[in-house]
Formats: sequence, C-alpha cells, structure tokens
Amino acid sequence: MQALVMSEPGNVKLTEIPTPVPGPDEVLIKVGASGICTNDIRDYLGDCDYSYPRIGGHEFAGTIEALGSAVDARRFQAGQRVVKYIIEDCKECYFCHTGHENICEEHPRSRIFHSEDGISGYAGFAEYVIAKADDIMVFEHEESFIKMAFTEPMACVINSIECTDVHFGQDCLVIGGGTMGLLHVMLLRLRGARVIVSEPMEARRAMALELGASEVLDPAEGDAVRKVRVLTGGRGADFVYNTVSHPAIAAQAVRMTAACGTCVMFSSIHPREDVPLDAGRIHSMQVTVTGAVSPTIRAYFESVQMLDKGLVDPTPLIEGVFDCTEFQAAMDTALRPDSYKVIVRFGA
Ligand SMILES: [Zn+2]
Ligand SMILES: [Zn+2]
Repeated sequence: MQALVMSEPGNVKLTEIPTPVPGPDEVLIKVGASGICTNDIRDYLGDCDYSYPRIGGHEFAGTIEALGSAVDARRFQAGQRVVKYIIEDCKECYFCHTGHENICEEHPRSRIFHSEDGISGYAGFAEYVIAKADDIMVFEHEESFIKMAFTEPMACVINSIECTDVHFGQDCLVIGGGTMGLLHVMLLRLRGARVIVSEPMEARRAMALELGASEVLDPAEGDAVRKVRVLTGGRGADFVYNTVSHPAIAAQAVRMTAACGTCVMFSSIHPREDVPLDAGRIHSMQVTVTGAVSPTIRAYFESVQMLDKGLVDPTPLIEGVFDCTEFQAAMDTALRPDSYKVIVRFGA
C-alpha cells in the first residue's frame, strides 16, 4: 500500500510499504479521507519528541476492508463506513476505570508516539490502517469521508463543551476563530448559548458571525478583557473556551471569565510556561479553571451521531482537499496561519 511516511520532521514521502494484516480482534480500514491536525503540523515542524519513521494522521475515515477472525460479524461487515476512536486506552488504568480514557496512562507509551523497531504514528495518512474492532464506530447515513474526517476534532470540542454546564441564553466566549474555535461556535449555538468570538483576523471574525456567533471582537485592538466585560453586563463570559496556544492569552482567558464561570484550556500551551493568575479572584469569584484534551469514548460517539444525523455540517471549515500524491501542497496550505481544515484523500 501507499503511505505518507515521515522519515524525519519536514520530510514526508508517499512510500510503498506492506499492507497491514488485521489480527483476530482487528479490522482493516481502507482510508477515504484524513484531516491534517495541528498536532500533525507540530510533528512536521519537529516540535514533538516522537520516534521516526512515522505515519501521522489521526482524523481518518474509511470503509471496512477486512475483518479479523474473532470480530463479531453481526456487528461489523466489509464495506461499512467507519471511524476509529484514536486513544490507545488500556481499559485497565485508574483513568480508564473512572471514565477518563482520554487521559489513559498507557496512551503516551503506545506505538503512536514511539516505536523501537518500526513505524510510529496514528497511521491514518495511508491507504489502509488497522483498528481494534472495539474502537470502531459505524456511520449509517453520512456518505462523505471528508465530513466523517471531522469526527475526531469535533469530538475534542464536544469533550470541551461537556466540561461546562451551559444553560440557554448564557454567554460563551470562544478565543480563536480557527477550525477548533469555529467548531465550538457551531456546537455552542446548538446548546442555546450566546456566542462571542475573540479573533484578530477579520475574515475569521466574518466566518464566526456566519456560523452563528452573536458578537465578535478584535483582541489586537484595545483592551480585550474590557470589551468582553462591556458585552456581558460587566460580568465577563459565563464560559470561556481558549483555543489559542499562546501563554499570555491563557492568562487573559481567565480574566475574561465571569464570577461562578468556567474557563476551559482547550489548546495546548506553546511555549509551555507558567502564566500569572489572580488566585484571589478565582477564590472570591468562584471561577473554575479547567482543561480539555482529546475526546472520551462518549464524546467521540456523540461526534459520530452529530455528523451522521446531519445535525452539524462542517463543510464551511474545509480549506482544501488534496490527493495523497499532493501532500506537500496540503501541508503547505495547512501551515498557513489563516487556513482552516485541510483534508488528504486516499483512494479514488
Ligand atoms: Zn486532531
Ligand atoms: Zn488506561
């Protein structure tokens, strides 16, 4: 099969490698489409301590090509359109036992990040990928692999929003109008929130308004914290979702959060450094500061439901679709600071 093998950061080539063979409890998936994630970009730029060679791509969707001998044929058949839950959850550790499989202790130790003797990675940038049958979720209706490839990023956003108990009419501030920020906008609207977006690029602010934001602001002009307070009767936003990696913005996000509100650190922070927080205000205003990383199985399944039932349409967030032979052009597009989701297509 053909796979986009990264021999070292910045060097990806479409390479012929053996097609993987599913074990008894595994399925072979023929990949239709695979999204490029910020994590793939950091990997490409050499910003991760993973082992190489490596095949990236965790936002993939495709069809079942073959089933292992022990896979339940009542549940899975060749030709079904599927996605895979991408956390290598061990189902045995403390976090797996307490409903937090998204932070399973074993996941960081898996072959996804380091492989002593072979290729590391999620391996979705390839014609075929192997998955455990119990990690597979089936789409009944949605036909487009490109839309299905949004399952993972949208699941991350669902996990983020489910850290917050949003009630109708409350104020939700989304910091950053990129793909993840705008997915927050679309889903928060469905939750009945009034959504405010803070984003320096004008075109992105316009897109946020199109996708359901009620208010937008440019944080590069004037005092962004004050602007949020003005829009929210002086209180700040009930819920703040920070999708931006800069440490200074994280500190600002907490200041934008209302009393009794919650601030979710959705983005990872780069560079990773401490940020000053007013702990006295967190105390006296009962502000909650939390984080959200990767989806739980439940959030992943909810994302499948949202896409499969047509309850949300990620089409406006597609920057471009590239054939796997055009990976360099795809990555160059994804590297542009203004681009939304870039999708790589496999097969015809
Ligand atoms: Zn992703
Ligand atoms: Zn675990």
